[in-house]
Amino acid sequence: MSDTKKLLPKVNKSGFFEIRMESVGGLGANLAGKVLAEAGVLGMGLNGVNFASYGSEKKGTPVKSFVRFAEPDFEIRSNSPVEEPHILVIFHEKMMKTMTLTQGVDENATVVVNTARTPDEIRAELKLYGGTVVCVDAIKISVEEKVKLNTTMLGAIAKASGFIDKAALKNAIAETFKKKYPHLIDANLKAFERGYNELSVKVFKPDNRYEYVSFSRSVPDIGYENAPIGGVILNPGNSISKDLSASRTGYIPLFIKDKCTNCGECEITCPDYCFVWEKGMDKHGKEKNILLGIDYQFCKGCMKCVEICKFDALKKELESNHDVESITIRHTEFVLK
Ligand code: SF4
Ligand code: SF4
Repeated sequence: MSDTKKLLPKVNKSGFFEIRMESVGGLGANLAGKVLAEAGVLGMGLNGVNFASYGSEKKGTPVKSFVRFAEPDFEIRSNSPVEEPHILVIFHEKMMKTMTLTQGVDENATVVVNTARTPDEIRAELKLYGGTVVCVDAIKISVEEKVKLNTTMLGAIAKASGFIDKAALKNAIAETFKKKYPHLIDANLKAFERGYNELSVKVFKPDNRYEYVSFSRSVPDIGYENAPIGGVILNPGNSISKDLSASRTGYIPLFIKDKCTNCGECEITCPDYCFVWEKGMDKHGKEKNILLGIDYQFCKGCMKCVEICKFDALKKELESNHDVESITIRHTEFVLK
């Protein structure tokens, strides 16, 4: 690299500034990575790449989006996953419950989290060794501005980075929406501004409370050498141990028991078996299945049940207005030992 003025605040030993976004399908992390790389390359003159890893492209499945920047005179020839990010972005705080997200994050890194909670609470839940924690309530902002939460997260990332040019990023957002969705440009730029400004930030020095977690690639338990004869899948995809709550984008279906006629339409409409029933009696003393409520662990917030219910017994409500844990009715037969 030459001695010309540097655009990046720091680089790793390979010469790159690296960002890893941890998300689930449907939240727009893939697009956010593309827009960010475009802003860096076309708007700031950096070299940059973006690539993502995801499974079935299904809403709710894990997604990783990577952005790698280098100074203009330094080529990028690598598209391997970002193992030790300068910035880790967590698109949905529910992901922290089920996945270890902080691999390779040290005290020099910044962790940007979509959450209404404080940096102290997030550090404790992540068991973060050290680093800067940046919290932004992106779901609230995106619901209020009626956009997806990725542009809000881009605002927070730009501010947290300390070097990503705000105007370049806003321009890249506008260019992205210009062709197909020009009517969404203003709302997304507003969400970006709010993401940029409505942050809480705290720096944590390593203090021996939590250990550093180094990066490791997940290795399948079963391969060609030890798969059981017949290729039996021992851990099939299922909706018993899965937690789909990270797929919700700010709304839940709220059950209003008084209005429910136990017609069962919601049960046959819900794709994820969220409704919990018990045997009971109707007002004529006839045996009937009675709807108790919703197991929100499996609810991805698609609102199909709200659309189908003719009796207004299900209502689309802001998740932030309710304590979801306390209104969840568990599928007790599914409690895993
Ligand atoms: S569709 Fe509505 S009325 Fe029918 S069982 Fe479901 S919540 Fe109750
Ligand atoms: S919003 Fe309704 S239909 Fe959709 S997953 Fe949740 S409970 Fe099921």
